[in-house]
Amino acid sequence: MAELVWDEGMSVGIDSLDNDHKQLITILAQLMSAKNDKLEKDGIDSIFEQLEYYCQSHFAKEEALLAKIDYQQLADHKKSHQIFIKKIPVLKQQWFDDVSEQEVVKEQIILFLQQWLIKHILEEDLDYVPAIHCHQEFSRYKKNKDAKHRWLRFFSVKLSQHLILSHRVLITTLLPVATVLILCLFILKEHNQRYQNISMVLGLNVVIEEVNELSHSLQAERGLSIGYTSSNYKNFIDQLSERRKITDEKVKGFLWLLEQSGSAKVKNNLSEYMITIQKSVTNLTRHRMNLDQKTVIFEDTYYAYTQLIDQLLSISDSLIHIEISSSYANDISAINALLRYKEFMGQIRAMGMKMIENNQENIYSNSNMSLLLGQQTNTLRIFSNAANKAQLLSCGEYCNAITQHKQLELSYLKTMLPTDKSARAASWFKVMSVKVDNLNAILDKLINEFDKKIFTKSVALKAEGYLMIFALSLFLLAAIFFALVLNYSIISPVRKLTYALNDMSAGQNNIHFKRIANNDEIGSMQLAFEKMRRKLLQGDVYKATVSQQQQEIKYRKSQQDHFQQLALTDALTGAVNRHHFNEVLDQEIANVNNHGSPLSIMLLDIDHFKVVNDSYGHGVGDEVLVLFYQTCLEAVRSSDVVARIGGEEFVIVMPNTELVNARKFAERLREKIAKLEINIAEKQMSVTVSIGVSQWKSDSFINAETFVAHADKSLYQAKNSGRNKVVVA
Ligand code: GH3
Ligand code: MG
Ligand code: MG
Repeated sequence: MAELVWDEGMSVGIDSLDNDHKQLITILAQLMSAKNDKLEKDGIDSIFEQLEYYCQSHFAKEEALLAKIDYQQLADHKKSHQIFIKKIPVLKQQWFDDVSEQEVVKEQIILFLQQWLIKHILEEDLDYVPAIHCHQEFSRYKKNKDAKHRWLRFFSVKLSQHLILSHRVLITTLLPVATVLILCLFILKEHNQRYQNISMVLGLNVVIEEVNELSHSLQAERGLSIGYTSSNYKNFIDQLSERRKITDEKVKGFLWLLEQSGSAKVKNNLSEYMITIQKSVTNLTRHRMNLDQKTVIFEDTYYAYTQLIDQLLSISDSLIHIEISSSYANDISAINALLRYKEFMGQIRAMGMKMIENNQENIYSNSNMSLLLGQQTNTLRIFSNAANKAQLLSCGEYCNAITQHKQLELSYLKTMLPTDKSARAASWFKVMSVKVDNLNAILDKLINEFDKKIFTKSVALKAEGYLMIFALSLFLLAAIFFALVLNYSIISPVRKLTYALNDMSAGQNNIHFKRIANNDEIGSMQLAFEKMRRKLLQGDVYKATVSQQQQEIKYRKSQQDHFQQLALTDALTGAVNRHHFNEVLDQEIANVNNHGSPLSIMLLDIDHFKVVNDSYGHGVGDEVLVLFYQTCLEAVRSSDVVARIGGEEFVIVMPNTELVNARKFAERLREKIAKLEINIAEKQMSVTVSIGVSQWKSDSFINAETFVAHADKSLYQAKNSGRNKVVVA
């Protein structure tokens, strides 16, 4: 029987528990040497006491640890501990109890304890030890402030407790992807907003172009109307009617544009202007009628046109409120300022007509005119601040307020030179119209340029948007691809490996990785698993072979024993055969000669056995022989030997037996045989036996043969004297 020794591989990784296990192994070793040295009861008692004490303290330690980590199967664990503790005194009792088979029982007890300990260390403890380790890791990271990356490790352990590997990998891959996705969607939304705004500006810019056209026509009509009223309805009649036609066309076109404007946003933006403009247009129509009826004053005319133009220009102003980049906002501001500047120029033209009518010599002699000039200077300042280089260049000399005002002053003085009022008005109107027309051309250019710029930008934004969507889709596809690759290259093999390892721990050695595709750590893990599996398989195969060999050896041994038995015994009854009887008797005679103890033999011959055979058949005769032998065997002592030396002749060798006692025993046996009721094949019969008894006398007998012959003589006498007798020589 082998002794159990500590192997570092048995360690559960918790020092206190390992020490207890080592101590228990030492106690088992003590018990084993106590058995071999046949130690006294006291010594054995103390070993069992030690065993009980260490088991109890070890179990208490274990249970405390399990309670700390809130182990779910603690109750079951405690129960198994209690059962084992109760078993120890029982084992001790067994150790002393069975005297006949003592050695075997002791070996069985030691074997049981060894197997229990191995199961306890390698199986039961491993069920909960990982949970204790996990708990200890937690508290270590929590308490130990110097631990490297302690929070990182703490969360890693925590995470691994709640999330399986595949989910963790999935989250770590998907989290950045999701973040990037959200960010991209946010950027895309912003981008789209920019595109929408630019598109709106683009849509509104078309309207601004029309605003410029319409306001330009209205400005001209306003100048002509004032010229017409100021000349007491004499001058500018033809020009005015021409202009009205153009204005009407423009108004119609403009209102149509407002209604048709493509984008809903642009339409929304313009809807509030629609109503007021329509009202003002109606107002203007009424004013024209009054004018034709010659019932208006200068202020009415001036107001009617200026109000409508103001409303138109406010549409252009609304563009500023759209969120676009500052450079575009500046461009729009510059265009608006120039529109206003042009409007002031138009108002100066109209106001001039009135001043000419009133014979005012100097342009500054009218306070309204001075106000207008001031406002114009302000607008120009705004333009200069907002406009870009190209816009400033396009504006040219019109952007210089001083030059402009000087020119205006001169122009007005020049206008006032002729004496004819209508000639003056016509000249002023012409000079100013050139200025307004030029400004109109500049504005057209600026608006067109802005339109082009915005259009290019909107195309670029659109392209950028598509590019971003494309890149995002590509990124998503790549992320999905990598997630799948990760799944196939890491998660799936690791999962398979886990299943295989679990199955292997459950004793299944037939799961194997046929193709080890990975050339990495996972491939190495699979390879290591495969090697381990083969090693275990090798062990199993070897064990199976050994056990088969052992069985074969056992079988051969039993066969050998069987043959040996056959060589020594009689095949029918199992009694010692004649050959072996000779050996036994020789041996006994030798013993007697050495020690001087008495030795008797008796020869038994069944009476008239021939008759049994003849009456019931040979088979029944055989059975009678077996029964006869068994009756003798039951009657003799364990040291006696019963042998069959002839057909129905037996001999009993009785060591340590005096002749008197041999005779008494022979008599008892004879009686027993005679009383025997034999029941074979539903036939009742009985037999008797004649017995010759003799005791060894070294001085009378030369050898065993003469000894047996002496007994045979007595048997002969018993037969002759009527059978069923015991005769002592
Ligand atoms: P006695 O009282 O003089 O001994 O008469 P007996 O018939 O017993 O003696 P005898 O020697 O004349 O006959 C022995 C018989 O025992 C002869 C034989 O058929 C029978 N016998 C011997 N060996 C066996 C055996 O193995 N089986 C059976 N059934 N009978 C046997
Ligand atoms: Mg005989
Ligand atoms: Mg006989």
